[in-house]
Amino acid sequence: MSAPPVLECAAVRKEFRGNLVLRDLDLTVAEHEVVVLIGASGSGKSTLLRCVNLLEPVSDGSIRLDGEHITDPAVDPDRVRRRIGMVFQGYNLFPHMTVLDNITLAPRRVHGRARAEAEAQAMGLLERVGLADKAKEFPDRLSGGQQQRAAVVRALVNAPRLLLLDEVTSALDPELVGEVLDLIRTLRDDGMTMLIATHEMGFARQVADRVCFLHDGAILEQGPPERVLGEPAEPRTRQFLQRII
Ligand code: ADP
Ligand code: MG
Repeated sequence: MSAPPVLECAAVRKEFRGNLVLRDLDLTVAEHEVVVLIGASGSGKSTLLRCVNLLEPVSDGSIRLDGEHITDPAVDPDRVRRRIGMVFQGYNLFPHMTVLDNITLAPRRVHGRARAEAEAQAMGLLERVGLADKAKEFPDRLSGGQQQRAAVVRALVNAPRLLLLDEVTSALDPELVGEVLDLIRTLRDDGMTMLIATHEMGFARQVADRVCFLHDGAILEQGPPERVLGEPAEPRTRQFLQRII
Protein backbone atom coordinates (compact mmCIF):
# COMPACT_ATOMS: atom_id res chain seq x y z
CA MET A 1 0.00 0.00 0.00
CA SER A 2 1.32 3.47 -0.81
CA ALA A 3 1.85 6.03 1.95
CA PRO A 4 -1.09 8.31 2.75
CA PRO A 5 -0.87 11.95 1.62
CA VAL A 6 0.87 14.32 4.05
CA LEU A 7 -2.35 16.32 4.43
CA GLU A 8 -5.89 15.25 3.81
CA CYS A 9 -8.81 17.58 4.56
CA ALA A 10 -12.16 15.86 4.10
CA ALA A 11 -15.43 17.80 4.12
CA VAL A 12 -13.95 20.39 6.49
CA ARG A 13 -16.57 22.78 7.71
CA LYS A 14 -15.91 25.81 9.87
CA GLU A 15 -18.51 28.09 11.34
CA PHE A 16 -17.98 31.21 13.39
CA ARG A 17 -21.23 31.84 15.26
CA GLY A 18 -23.44 30.67 12.42
CA ASN A 19 -21.21 32.23 9.73
CA LEU A 20 -20.10 29.40 7.44
CA VAL A 21 -16.47 30.10 6.50
CA LEU A 22 -15.35 26.69 5.17
CA ARG A 23 -17.97 24.70 3.29
CA ASP A 24 -17.20 21.00 3.34
CA LEU A 25 -13.80 21.61 1.85
CA ASP A 26 -11.73 18.73 0.47
CA LEU A 27 -8.01 19.15 -0.06
CA THR A 28 -5.10 16.74 -0.31
CA VAL A 29 -1.41 17.62 -0.31
CA ALA A 30 1.00 14.87 -1.32
CA GLU A 31 4.54 14.52 -0.01
CA HIS A 32 6.87 17.12 -1.63
CA GLU A 33 3.90 18.86 -3.19
CA VAL A 34 3.50 22.65 -3.04
CA VAL A 35 -0.14 23.75 -3.04
CA VAL A 36 -0.96 27.46 -3.26
CA LEU A 37 -4.28 28.87 -2.08
CA ILE A 38 -5.51 31.99 -3.82
CA GLY A 39 -8.78 33.84 -3.41
CA ALA A 40 -10.26 37.14 -2.31
CA SER A 41 -9.83 38.45 1.18
CA GLY A 42 -12.34 36.64 3.40
CA SER A 43 -12.55 33.53 1.21
CA GLY A 44 -11.25 31.33 4.06
CA LYS A 45 -7.53 30.82 3.30
CA SER A 46 -6.25 31.74 6.77
CA THR A 47 -9.04 29.85 8.49
CA LEU A 48 -8.13 26.71 6.57
CA LEU A 49 -4.45 27.01 7.52
CA ARG A 50 -5.39 27.67 11.16
CA CYS A 51 -7.65 24.61 11.21
CA VAL A 52 -4.82 22.46 9.80
CA ASN A 53 -2.51 23.69 12.56
CA LEU A 54 -5.26 23.08 15.15
CA LEU A 55 -5.37 26.76 16.07
CA GLU A 56 -9.09 26.60 15.29
CA PRO A 57 -11.32 23.58 15.89
CA VAL A 58 -13.20 22.38 12.80
CA SER A 59 -16.99 22.41 13.08
CA ASP A 60 -17.29 19.21 11.04
CA GLY A 61 -15.24 16.99 8.74
CA SER A 62 -11.75 15.70 9.41
CA ILE A 63 -8.09 16.51 8.84
CA ARG A 64 -5.40 13.87 8.56
CA LEU A 65 -1.66 14.36 8.79
CA ASP A 66 0.33 11.42 7.43
CA GLY A 67 -2.85 9.42 7.80
CA GLU A 68 -3.40 10.31 11.46
CA HIS A 69 -6.77 11.82 12.27
CA ILE A 70 -5.52 15.03 13.94
CA THR A 71 -8.95 16.63 14.40
CA ASP A 72 -9.90 13.76 16.69
CA PRO A 73 -10.61 15.43 20.05
CA ALA A 74 -8.37 12.90 21.83
CA VAL A 75 -5.28 14.10 19.92
CA ASP A 76 -2.75 16.30 21.73
CA PRO A 77 -2.47 19.48 19.61
CA ASP A 78 1.11 20.20 20.75
CA ARG A 79 2.26 16.85 19.45
CA VAL A 80 0.63 17.60 16.08
CA ARG A 81 2.02 21.14 15.85
CA ARG A 82 5.53 19.76 16.30
CA ARG A 83 5.09 18.14 12.89
CA ILE A 84 3.75 21.30 11.24
CA GLY A 85 5.58 24.59 10.74
CA MET A 86 3.62 27.81 10.31
CA VAL A 87 4.58 31.37 9.38
CA PHE A 88 2.13 34.27 9.40
CA GLN A 89 1.99 37.65 7.73
CA GLY A 90 4.11 39.55 10.23
CA TYR A 91 5.11 39.87 13.88
CA ASN A 92 6.21 36.25 14.04
CA LEU A 93 9.19 36.80 16.31
CA PHE A 94 9.08 37.67 20.00
CA PRO A 95 10.57 41.20 20.21
CA HIS A 96 12.21 40.68 23.62
CA MET A 97 14.30 37.68 22.53
CA THR A 98 17.28 37.36 20.25
CA VAL A 99 16.82 35.68 16.90
CA LEU A 100 18.58 32.58 18.21
CA ASP A 101 16.40 32.41 21.34
CA ASN A 102 13.30 32.86 19.20
CA ILE A 103 14.30 29.89 17.10
CA THR A 104 15.37 27.60 19.92
CA LEU A 105 12.52 28.44 22.30
CA ALA A 106 10.15 25.69 21.18
CA PRO A 107 12.78 22.96 20.82
CA ARG A 108 14.08 23.72 24.30
CA ARG A 109 10.86 24.42 26.22
CA VAL A 110 8.34 22.24 24.49
CA HIS A 111 10.49 19.41 23.26
CA GLY A 112 13.02 19.38 26.06
CA ARG A 113 16.07 19.46 23.86
CA ALA A 114 19.44 20.56 25.20
CA ARG A 115 20.32 24.19 24.54
CA ALA A 116 23.64 23.43 22.85
CA GLU A 117 22.10 20.95 20.46
CA ALA A 118 19.15 23.23 19.62
CA GLU A 119 21.47 26.19 19.07
CA ALA A 120 23.83 24.26 16.85
CA GLN A 121 20.95 23.19 14.65
CA ALA A 122 19.49 26.72 14.60
CA MET A 123 22.86 28.20 13.63
CA GLY A 124 23.12 25.73 10.76
CA LEU A 125 19.73 26.81 9.46
CA LEU A 126 20.50 30.52 9.95
CA GLU A 127 23.68 30.05 7.95
CA ARG A 128 21.74 28.45 5.15
CA VAL A 129 19.44 31.47 4.90
CA GLY A 130 22.29 33.97 5.24
CA LEU A 131 21.40 35.18 8.72
CA ALA A 132 24.11 33.64 10.89
CA ASP A 133 25.48 37.10 11.73
CA LYS A 134 22.05 38.15 13.08
CA ALA A 135 21.70 35.28 15.58
CA LYS A 136 22.38 37.43 18.64
CA GLU A 137 20.42 40.46 17.46
CA PHE A 138 16.93 41.38 18.60
CA PRO A 139 14.27 41.29 15.86
CA ASP A 140 13.95 45.07 15.62
CA ARG A 141 17.53 45.23 14.34
CA LEU A 142 16.57 43.14 11.32
CA SER A 143 14.77 44.24 8.16
CA GLY A 144 11.27 42.89 7.62
CA GLY A 145 12.60 40.42 5.06
CA GLN A 146 15.28 39.19 7.45
CA GLN A 147 12.69 38.82 10.21
CA GLN A 148 10.47 36.72 7.97
CA ARG A 149 13.41 34.55 6.92
CA ALA A 150 14.20 34.03 10.62
CA ALA A 151 10.53 33.17 11.19
CA VAL A 152 10.78 30.56 8.44
CA VAL A 153 13.87 29.12 10.14
CA ARG A 154 11.92 28.93 13.40
CA ALA A 155 9.15 27.03 11.60
CA LEU A 156 11.71 24.60 10.16
CA VAL A 157 13.54 23.83 13.36
CA ASN A 158 11.48 20.76 14.19
CA ALA A 159 11.94 19.39 10.66
CA PRO A 160 8.17 19.60 10.04
CA ARG A 161 6.34 17.29 7.70
CA LEU A 162 4.31 20.24 6.41
CA LEU A 163 4.98 23.96 6.23
CA LEU A 164 2.03 26.39 6.26
CA LEU A 165 2.71 29.91 5.00
CA ASP A 166 0.04 32.58 5.33
CA GLU A 167 0.68 35.72 3.26
CA VAL A 168 4.25 35.81 4.52
CA THR A 169 5.21 38.71 2.26
CA SER A 170 2.09 40.88 2.68
CA ALA A 171 3.54 43.11 5.39
CA LEU A 172 6.89 43.60 3.63
CA ASP A 173 8.13 46.55 1.62
CA PRO A 174 8.16 45.53 -2.05
CA GLU A 175 11.97 45.45 -2.25
CA LEU A 176 12.10 42.87 0.57
CA VAL A 177 9.56 40.45 -0.89
CA GLY A 178 12.05 38.78 -3.24
CA GLU A 179 14.43 37.48 -0.58
CA VAL A 180 11.60 35.73 1.27
CA LEU A 181 10.17 34.24 -1.91
CA ASP A 182 13.66 33.04 -2.90
CA LEU A 183 13.92 31.19 0.42
CA ILE A 184 10.55 29.51 -0.15
CA ARG A 185 11.66 28.48 -3.63
CA THR A 186 14.78 26.91 -2.11
CA LEU A 187 12.61 24.96 0.34
CA ARG A 188 10.50 23.75 -2.55
CA ASP A 189 13.62 22.57 -4.35
CA ASP A 190 14.65 20.72 -1.16
CA GLY A 191 11.34 18.84 -1.28
CA MET A 192 9.48 20.55 1.58
CA THR A 193 5.74 19.87 1.48
CA MET A 194 3.95 23.22 1.65
CA LEU A 195 0.49 24.76 1.76
CA ILE A 196 0.78 28.46 0.98
CA ALA A 197 -1.75 31.30 0.96
CA THR A 198 -0.54 34.21 -1.15
CA HIS A 199 -1.56 37.25 -3.15
CA GLU A 200 1.64 37.07 -5.20
CA MET A 201 0.40 35.52 -8.42
CA GLY A 202 3.85 35.58 -10.05
CA PHE A 203 5.21 33.63 -7.12
CA ALA A 204 2.25 31.22 -7.16
CA ARG A 205 2.97 30.50 -10.81
CA GLN A 206 6.64 29.78 -10.13
CA VAL A 207 6.40 27.77 -6.94
CA ALA A 208 3.09 25.90 -7.06
CA ASP A 209 2.59 22.37 -8.24
CA ARG A 210 -1.11 23.09 -7.88
CA VAL A 211 -3.11 26.28 -7.40
CA CYS A 212 -6.49 26.18 -5.61
CA PHE A 213 -8.90 29.08 -6.02
CA LEU A 214 -10.97 29.53 -2.88
CA HIS A 215 -14.29 31.27 -3.12
CA ASP A 216 -16.60 31.65 -0.17
CA GLY A 217 -15.09 28.78 1.78
CA ALA A 218 -14.88 26.22 -1.02
CA ILE A 219 -12.32 25.33 -3.66
CA LEU A 220 -13.98 26.47 -6.87
CA GLU A 221 -11.23 25.26 -9.16
CA GLN A 222 -7.76 23.83 -8.93
CA GLY A 223 -5.00 22.63 -11.20
CA PRO A 224 -1.53 23.41 -12.49
CA PRO A 225 -0.66 27.10 -12.11
CA GLU A 226 -0.42 27.75 -15.85
CA ARG A 227 -3.93 26.42 -16.29
CA VAL A 228 -5.68 28.03 -13.31
CA LEU A 229 -3.88 31.38 -13.60
CA GLY A 230 -3.57 31.42 -17.39
CA GLU A 231 -6.82 29.87 -18.57
CA PRO A 232 -9.21 29.79 -15.61
CA ALA A 233 -12.36 27.79 -16.31
CA GLU A 234 -14.56 29.51 -13.74
CA PRO A 235 -15.86 33.06 -14.30
CA ARG A 236 -15.22 33.85 -10.63
CA THR A 237 -11.58 32.88 -10.93
CA ARG A 238 -11.28 35.09 -14.02
CA GLN A 239 -12.89 38.00 -12.16
CA PHE A 240 -10.55 37.55 -9.21
CA LEU A 241 -7.45 37.43 -11.40
CA GLN A 242 -8.51 40.47 -13.43
CA ARG A 243 -9.02 42.43 -10.25
CA ILE A 244 -5.67 41.71 -8.68
CA ILE A 245 -3.31 41.74 -11.67
P1 ADP B 1 -8.77 35.00 4.06
O1 ADP B 1 -7.55 34.53 4.79
O2 ADP B 1 -9.02 34.26 2.79
O3 ADP B 1 -8.77 36.49 3.86
P2 ADP B 1 -10.14 34.33 6.51
O4 ADP B 1 -9.98 32.88 6.70
O5 ADP B 1 -9.28 35.24 7.31
O6 ADP B 1 -10.04 34.68 4.96
O7 ADP B 1 -11.63 34.73 6.83
C1 ADP B 1 -12.73 34.04 6.30
C2 ADP B 1 -14.00 34.52 6.99
O8 ADP B 1 -13.99 34.08 8.33
C3 ADP B 1 -14.15 36.02 7.02
O9 ADP B 1 -15.50 36.33 6.79
C4 ADP B 1 -13.73 36.37 8.43
O10 ADP B 1 -14.38 37.52 8.86
C5 ADP B 1 -14.20 35.16 9.21
N1 ADP B 1 -13.39 34.92 10.41
C6 ADP B 1 -12.08 34.58 10.43
N2 ADP B 1 -11.65 34.40 11.69
C7 ADP B 1 -12.72 34.64 12.50
C8 ADP B 1 -12.94 34.61 13.92
N3 ADP B 1 -11.93 34.30 14.76
N4 ADP B 1 -14.16 34.91 14.38
C9 ADP B 1 -15.18 35.20 13.53
N5 ADP B 1 -15.05 35.25 12.19
C10 ADP B 1 -13.84 34.96 11.67
MG1 MG C 1 -5.85 35.54 5.37
